[in-house]
Amino acid sequence: MDTADLFCDGALMRRFAVSALCGLALALGACSTARTAHVTPETAPSGPPKLIVAISVDQFSADLFAQYRSRFSSGLARLQQGAVFPSGFQAHAATETCPGHATLLTGTRPARSGIIANNWYDLGTARAEKKIYCAEDENDPASSSRDPVVSAVHLKVPTLGDLMKGANPATRNVSVSAKDRAVMMMGGHRIDAAYWYYKGQFATLKGREPSPAANAINNAVAALVKKGAPAMPMPAWCASADQPIAVGKGQLGTGRFALEAGKPDALRASPRMDSATVDLANALIDEMNLGKGSVADILSVSLSATDYIGHANGTEGGEMCVQMAELDRTIGRLLAHLDARGIDYAVVLSADHGGLDIPERQREQALPRAVRADPGLAPQALAKALSVQTGVTSPDPLLSSDGLFGDFYVSRKIGAADRARVIGALVKLARAHPQVAAVFTADELAKTPLPSGSPQDFTLKDRARASFDPTRSGDVVILLDRAVTPIPEPAVGSFVATHGSAWDYDRRVPMLFWRKGLRGFEQPAPVETIDIAPTLAAMLGLAVPEGTFDGRCLDVDGGERNTCEVIK
Ligand SMILES: [Zn+2]
Repeated sequence: MDTADLFCDGALMRRFAVSALCGLALALGACSTARTAHVTPETAPSGPPKLIVAISVDQFSADLFAQYRSRFSSGLARLQQGAVFPSGFQAHAATETCPGHATLLTGTRPARSGIIANNWYDLGTARAEKKIYCAEDENDPASSSRDPVVSAVHLKVPTLGDLMKGANPATRNVSVSAKDRAVMMMGGHRIDAAYWYYKGQFATLKGREPSPAANAINNAVAALVKKGAPAMPMPAWCASADQPIAVGKGQLGTGRFALEAGKPDALRASPRMDSATVDLANALIDEMNLGKGSVADILSVSLSATDYIGHANGTEGGEMCVQMAELDRTIGRLLAHLDARGIDYAVVLSADHGGLDIPERQREQALPRAVRADPGLAPQALAKALSVQTGVTSPDPLLSSDGLFGDFYVSRKIGAADRARVIGALVKLARAHPQVAAVFTADELAKTPLPSGSPQDFTLKDRARASFDPTRSGDVVILLDRAVTPIPEPAVGSFVATHGSAWDYDRRVPMLFWRKGLRGFEQPAPVETIDIAPTLAAMLGLAVPEGTFDGRCLDVDGGERNTCEVIK
């Protein structure tokens, strides 16, 4: 179709850095507006949106979306009227929160963003602690991996907000979540307002103070935490999920999120965490007049409760069902707030990764192979076996890893020949383990080309390559078999289920795009979360250098109009 129907002609777009400037060009008569042959004037967007709203629902797998989508009646029902991609892929192997959030608005894979995991090891760092948290600045002496000085310093690429601000500094880039890493990976290097939940309050970047609107929300959160809250209602359609299941020394499946007074961390694993996050987003929309300026703004909202609830309860119990109902309502409140202010906004909703239910319930539900990982796969246990086998010992841990899978680092304090022997022995040991699907060395991955083609057809090596950064990845990467939960002992009340694997239950997430007037459709073919940033950049008419993104623009209008045509 003719791009002029939407924005400006291509030649003009190349002269103007941002289509926000197109407003000026329009006033000068340089652009043509909708030549209404192809568009419905009363509903079609006329030019770039004034506000991008990027929603991440942490651990919202394509499976959860499929299971509950017919039940949604509020915000998630609205978004399903737009462009629906039920098979969006976080195509890489390390399906964790930090790498996943980094793909969403940078349009790049972890191999390029540098965010290969939530935590990795830098055995050469001057700091005594070698474990590095993805969203910390370890050069700040106050920072540790557990209590970080929050920063985007490890993110090697710009986010969409960074690019928008680079094109026009008047753009406001706002990012909120319960999780600091979600805030930083969606917001990036130049965030105007950044807030995450820390010790019962929404905290902000070092050297900044919360704004009056954030303080007001913090007062409300403090009052809620102090008082506690009753159990939440369960929709009738949750009945089949609302069944008790024995896990470890406890029981799960029938929780209702009664909030005990005085427990700020209990708020996290409850739908009320998302609600507080949206309250904050709504307050910032008003305080900063987002979407009302001369250029487009961007608001990132990462809703963390689905993830905390999944980790604490698994994905198939009554708890997750209640959360899905509340999530729908909470997103509805965000959209209603934007509507009420008359803002011309475009929404994308996706997730940083999927998730897997607890093996105890899966074995009751026709998946007998679901198991918990052998504690012998922990780095300390493997190191012990390797020392016995090779005779090599080290003054520091022989093997470091953030868990029972993923990147494993061999001590730098042993000689090169010993290191090579330990790496070889580790590969052999891990490959022989019945719960291990694949093992790759850094050398192997470095020689592997970056994957292309359909993400559902990526080999395990392709997936590991997409997560590989030679400056940060381990000496050995271990991928567990399907349906192996890398939590040997479930801790009821905190951590019983997880994600992070190279399998599709962790890789597949929904991708929904909505804007008033766009013609909705459903495209079942696989797409990737790295396609989101180029898609939004095109909607904005943002001119970016060739090769900025690993992903491709998706035409999110189901009609003749092509929302990608502004960037040829
Ligand atoms: Zn996550």
